Amino acid sequence: MRRIPKRDAMYLGAHISISESIALAPSRGRSVGCEAIQIFSRSPRMLRKTKPIPPEEAQAFQENMKKHGLARAVIHANYLINLASPKKNGLRYSRAAFVEELDRAQVLGIRDVIFHPGAHLGKGETYALKTIAASLDWSFDHATAPDVFAVLEITAGQGSVIGYTFAQLAEIMKACSHPERLAVCIDTCHTFAAGYDFRTREGYDALLRDVEGTVGLSRVRAFHLNDSKGDLGSRADRHEDIGKGKLGQDPFRFLVNDERFREIPAVLEFPGTDGGYRKELKLLRSLVTGENPPTSPQKPRGRRAGRETG
Ligand SMILES: [Zn+2]
Ligand SMILES: [Zn+2]
Repeated sequence: MRRIPKRDAMYLGAHISISESIALAPSRGRSVGCEAIQIFSRSPRMLRKTKPIPPEEAQAFQENMKKHGLARAVIHANYLINLASPKKNGLRYSRAAFVEELDRAQVLGIRDVIFHPGAHLGKGETYALKTIAASLDWSFDHATAPDVFAVLEITAGQGSVIGYTFAQLAEIMKACSHPERLAVCIDTCHTFAAGYDFRTREGYDALLRDVEGTVGLSRVRAFHLNDSKGDLGSRADRHEDIGKGKLGQDPFRFLVNDERFREIPAVLEFPGTDGGYRKELKLLRSLVTGENPPTSPQKPRGRRAGRETG
């Protein structure tokens, strides 16, 4: 049994495939260097009801998490779920599928279901925010998942997608009758594409002040670490490998060294190959200095801190 490394930083990891069995995800994650994994608990591109997770599979998943020394797992909900849908059937299927997501997380012993808040499809943002809050209430009432958080992911704001500011996420929380069941996932690509510039220390601090003043820093339960192909404020959801996009390495250095986010899962997403994940996790760990250095150009960059794990 592997020891879970004690971290003074985030639990770094990646989105991992569940093909063949959910129980295989922990060893796949460990083999590319994850301390945390994100998975789908079902096919992400179909809304119809799926078979429940067999208890043996759930148990094997939990045993494999321990065996491979993984600290945390989170679930990313199905992409087709739209809790803001103005279409009657669309909303009905979305809510039912979201309940399934919460229930499946509970069965797997996973506490976080990360989801995109929704898209109003022309009905307007006020309508969307209200509908999402109502959908969440409905879902909490119909799920059997008392230990699971619904984790609102900040979006890039493409099309009619809502939730591209932390103030909007806070509004959803306020309108929901179970705000204690809600949390937030910060996707670095989405945040930047939505218009938050945190490429400098000042910008990063301003972003965190915004988060603190809206949803609250303590509500942040996960990060998606993606660089952005699109520029600041482009409202385009286009991920890039860490350091190769418009964000560059600095924002990731601020994040992985931020004490406030210690022991929070932070995962790489698509496009990801095993080799790519391995390299990117190495890069992220090389940015961990154990302190919070300023980013003046005179300082040495990318100092290695011997944080690589097997
Ligand atoms: Zn994401
Ligand atoms: Zn994205």
